[in-house]
Amino acid sequence: MSTSYDQNNIFTKIIAGDLPSHKIYEDDVCISILDIMPESRGHVLVIPKKGARNLIDVDPNDLAELMKRVQKIAVAVKISMNADGLLLRQANEEVAGQTVYHLHFHLIPCYAGKRRSRHGSVEVSNEDLAEIADHIKKLL
Ligand code: AMP
Repeated sequence: MSTSYDQNNIFTKIIAGDLPSHKIYEDDVCISILDIMPESRGHVLVIPKKGARNLIDVDPNDLAELMKRVQKIAVAVKISMNADGLLLRQANEEVAGQTVYHLHFHLIPCYAGKRRSRHGSVEVSNEDLAEIADHIKKLL
């Protein structure tokens, strides 16, 4: 099994604009989009533009820049979604639950008394995602 970075992945296509997404943030380092199968309302992904397979191979300096964005976006998501908490998750390799092999961080709002959906189990309409993206974007 190869564990090297393969640029032929869905996030590279989204970064290039070859596939649509519900984008909430973009700069020279990363993009942030809504997850199309959210575990809760407002579940976003923060994706570096520079290719890395996951935490194991990313350049530490690139990671440091990326984490500044992760925090900035986390604050915007938590406040705009009026969440009670926020889960940060990042999977490395299939055995850990990684399904897209381009580094990304999940930011998953948590709401008191509300269970989160299972990873990759619930699809949300485009209209709903667009509305949430517009809402979060106002704080970024
Ligand atoms: P992981 O399983 O941790 O590698 O996370 C990959 C995530 O990407 C999953 O939560 C998927 O729901 C999400 N995902 C897959 N394809 C897309 C897409 N086209 N747009 C937005 N999110 C996606």
